[in-house]
Amino acid sequence: MLDFDAALALVLDGVTPAALERVPLVHAAGRVLAEPLVARRPLPEFDYSAMDGYAVASADLPASGGVLPVRGVSAAGSQPGRLEPGTAARIFTGGPVPEGADAVVLQEDVTSDAQHARFTERPAAGSHIRKRGDDLAAGERTLGAGVRLNPFQLGLAASLDYAELVVTKRPNVAVLCTGDELRAPGSSGAPGSIPESNGVALAALVHAAGGVPHLCAPTSDAADATRRALENALRLAEVVVTCGGVSVGDRDIVKGCFEALGVTTVFHKVAIKPGKPLYFGKLGHQRLLGLPGNPASAQVTFSLFGLPLLRALLGIRERLPLRTSARLTRAIQQKPGRRTFCRAMLEADRVTPLDNQASGATTAMAWANALIVVSEHASRCEAGSPVEVIPFAELYK
Ligand code: AMP
Ligand code: MG
Repeated sequence: MLDFDAALALVLDGVTPAALERVPLVHAAGRVLAEPLVARRPLPEFDYSAMDGYAVASADLPASGGVLPVRGVSAAGSQPGRLEPGTAARIFTGGPVPEGADAVVLQEDVTSDAQHARFTERPAAGSHIRKRGDDLAAGERTLGAGVRLNPFQLGLAASLDYAELVVTKRPNVAVLCTGDELRAPGSSGAPGSIPESNGVALAALVHAAGGVPHLCAPTSDAADATRRALENALRLAEVVVTCGGVSVGDRDIVKGCFEALGVTTVFHKVAIKPGKPLYFGKLGHQRLLGLPGNPASAQVTFSLFGLPLLRALLGIRERLPLRTSARLTRAIQQKPGRRTFCRAMLEADRVTPLDNQASGATTAMAWANALIVVSEHASRCEAGSPVEVIPFAELYK
């Protein structure tokens, strides 16, 4: 059976970023920058005062200070005239430094009336002045392509006078759950029916990762209904995620339906736990992930394979979730052969596996904030030993 790394490499193989689009800055949060952000002009563009005070030419004052007549004002947004030699100009935070001035003296350090200002010492040249280009020189590259834009980076783009940014298009992702037993949460159903609980979680993961989720109505286990639903999903999206029906039971008809529609199977089954029956196929540029229906299996496999696929389609530079190391608070025992992803609570540098690791358990996923990665070769990890951990927060960063 394929191991985790080989399967992930196959999912990411040949994926190129989606098409590009230009969006207004206010819509660019969470989008992925497709072109480097370059300073078109120096930042700041002109010398300005960092404080309220008086602009002077430092050479006009003796070392022990002195009195200068006050002429002119520079406030933020104004365009002051030249500083007359032997005078001081009133200046406020953000005000352009008048030509001829090379220092700003804080108003707290000056005694003044309307016409004169008394200085106690000669200021050092450059005091309290933010110089043109201090922060960035013109032409400097500030952010590279492949950055998922956070609010602070949007602020930087705005200060560089960008009104729009070129970003990658958000990939459309259809989510289709299959199973005769499924009913909408909150609806009444026949005995034996259960609320469909994976679709909403998967759609939210797609959204958080930067894709556009299309949550399709669940289908029964009938092959013709499943095929029709898949055709519809393939019209909507470049990535189709199904859930359920990919194991080896009589009702596991999803793989057959994919193949009937011309999908090429890339793999079926991976040596992981949970999620062994995972399916991956391709139809032209479209990619299909068949997740097992058990909630922990569906959610873990989508996190480990679907989210990296979305990152690659979005052109995000960091493809894989960052892993950290933590100390186990209690031992984990397993049958070797499959890489295990234990649902766990990470607190500082300590990590505790949750009690119910069954693939059908929805509680463990909801209470966990991390996955512990246990090697397929290990049969036991001792309490106190370091283990590899994937924090949930890293999954869709
Ligand atoms: P399957 O992968 O179709 O064999 O389903 C495995 C288990 O997961 C069964 O107990 C199903 O009832 C359950 N299951 C499948 N799909 C879902 C779903 N969308 N929501 C909740 N449970 C599901
Ligand atoms: Mg099923």
